[in-house]
Amino acid sequence: MTAVLEVRGLSAGYDGVAVVRGVDLAVEAGGIATIVGANGAGKTTIMRALSGVLRPVEGAILFEGEPIEALPPHEIVARGLVMVPEGRRLFPSLSVLENLELGAYQPHCRGRRRENMQRMFELFPRLAERRGQRAGTLSGGEQQMVAIARALMSMPKVLMLDEPSLGLAPVIVATLFEIVKGINAAGTTVVLVEQNVKHALAISAQAWVLENGSIVLGGSGPALLTDDKTRRAYLGM
Ligand code: ATP
Repeated sequence: MTAVLEVRGLSAGYDGVAVVRGVDLAVEAGGIATIVGANGAGKTTIMRALSGVLRPVEGAILFEGEPIEALPPHEIVARGLVMVPEGRRLFPSLSVLENLELGAYQPHCRGRRRENMQRMFELFPRLAERRGQRAGTLSGGEQQMVAIARALMSMPKVLMLDEPSLGLAPVIVATLFEIVKGINAAGTTVVLVEQNVKHALAISAQAWVLENGSIVLGGSGPALLTDDKTRRAYLGM
């Protein structure tokens, strides 16, 4: 297996305080990879470093074998590594359609905007029904779908999702994880950060447990889920 995304010795933090220390990860192409960990463990900080919005203090980030840790966020998106941030960050006063169009601003996907929009409405029929509605008036689950669809409009090779299930009702969470599986099955590598450990690990070929900014455990998601010691010690189950 080849790693599409590799993190080597990553340290990152805020105001001179390291939050993440010495993190090594190799995400294999074509699968779903998940980072789990308690509140404040540093999961979002890793995602922010990967997407270029936070400069690492130390370490290398390789995407398709090339260093990206010094690139600005839009160049990282252009290469095909795209993050859906926690909290969705939609434009609340713009319509669903307008939010999706904004996902396709990069030159390489602008020409395929209509075709991709059609794909999004097939993947998310609910959004097709609500294409003219202002994003700020959608339910939490619908907003998460817009955020994911907007990211997919930029045709990512690797889609990173930061806590996509946060604040959603259980029934919507199940749908969301089905959608994530579908996106992966259609060929996009997925990197997930989740507190919904059970759901996330169940669908992940690769998984890591992050504790106080360091990786303390790694393996396949289902293996971590069934290991008693790790369930008790790290997963609070
Ligand atoms: P959660 O699941 O609660 O989102 P997390 O694992 O994603 O947690 P991070 O958001 O990476 O954790 O935060 C890790 C630590 O970094 C926390 O102690 C947090 O307070 C701190 N931190 C995060 N963002 C900033 C910031 N902009 N400035 C200063 N400290 C920050």
